[in-house]
Amino acid sequence: MKSIVPFVAKLEKSEIDKWVKVLKKKLKGARIVKFSDLKKSEYSKVKVAVVANPNPSEVEKLVNLKWVQSIWVGVEKLVQTFKGSGVKIVRLVDPEMNRTMAEAVLSWVLYLHRDMYSYRVQQGKKAWIELDYIKPSKKVVSFIGLGELGKAAAKKLIENGFKVCGWSGSKKNIKKVKSFTGHFGLKKMLGQTDILVSLIPLTDKTKYLLNYKTLSFLKKGACIVNFARGAIINEKDLVKHLNSGNIKHAVLDVFEQEPLPKTSILWKHKKVTILPHISANTDFESASDIVAKNLRLFKLKKKIPKSVDLQRGY
Ligand code: NAP
Repeated sequence: MKSIVPFVAKLEKSEIDKWVKVLKKKLKGARIVKFSDLKKSEYSKVKVAVVANPNPSEVEKLVNLKWVQSIWVGVEKLVQTFKGSGVKIVRLVDPEMNRTMAEAVLSWVLYLHRDMYSYRVQQGKKAWIELDYIKPSKKVVSFIGLGELGKAAAKKLIENGFKVCGWSGSKKNIKKVKSFTGHFGLKKMLGQTDILVSLIPLTDKTKYLLNYKTLSFLKKGACIVNFARGAIINEKDLVKHLNSGNIKHAVLDVFEQEPLPKTSILWKHKKVTILPHISANTDFESASDIVAKNLRLFKLKKKIPKSVDLQRGY
């Protein structure tokens, strides 16, 4: 008998339809349905669901749910939804996503490294000023978070000649990456950092990890790239450091409220580059292959892929 796998998501209808269609094609042994097409009598038959920002009141109805497969990498909302429920969360781990993020990190690090934002401002003033060039081998790019995405991006930067450091929960042994851990490790790393890249998950421990105090540990004139989650950085504290000149420029792709409200002072801040959460979107082709493979494995071998540690929150 075909197992029932609902797609539970708060997404545009067209996107839900696209996912349901491709999963139906790739998973002949399962009945893939939109949550809204699930009959009440079928709720208790569901053991696994595919999710994207699901409505908690919908997943609650699936009383025998064992695990959910997310089509996204970040899990902070899912952790809140499923904490204490016994339901396992499997997040998307996709080499294509790692590649895309590494490409985005390289692009925006080069934007900062080659002063593209400053030349844009100079053009506005018709100013012909040559800024100093410093070789990548003399610049330190540091990561907070050296997981799937951080590691791939760190390697990309090493290939491009940068010095690379990384801060994580556990010590890492990655070729040419100086690894730091703990509060003092963070302070030490930030003190030598020219460009800081945030690729750390949002958890109770990492919320406002970058605040007035920790940002003041950064080398004077350092730049910041936030590709993780908005609440990793305390926005007001960041603005204070930008205004004082301690931080030279920030590239922000993620915000506590998205889309960024029109009233936000960040939009017009001369030292901020705003991106609309585009650094690495889920690649539909590769992600649907991975989701289908994980669901197949569960159907055939009852094996649930590696799941999120709900205690630590990532
Ligand atoms: P991951 O593989 O789970 O890696 C997380 C890294 O952060 C690990 O190195 C981990 O340390 C470290 N970490 C977590 N909590 C820590 C703490 N309290 N102190 C020190 N280090 C800590 O995650 P990922 O796949 O690289 O993804 C990272 C984040 O990127 C996601 O959570 C998501 O928010 C964000 N993201 C953004 C976009 C976008 O488009 N902007 C796209 C995808 C993902 P250990 O190695 O010791 O565990």
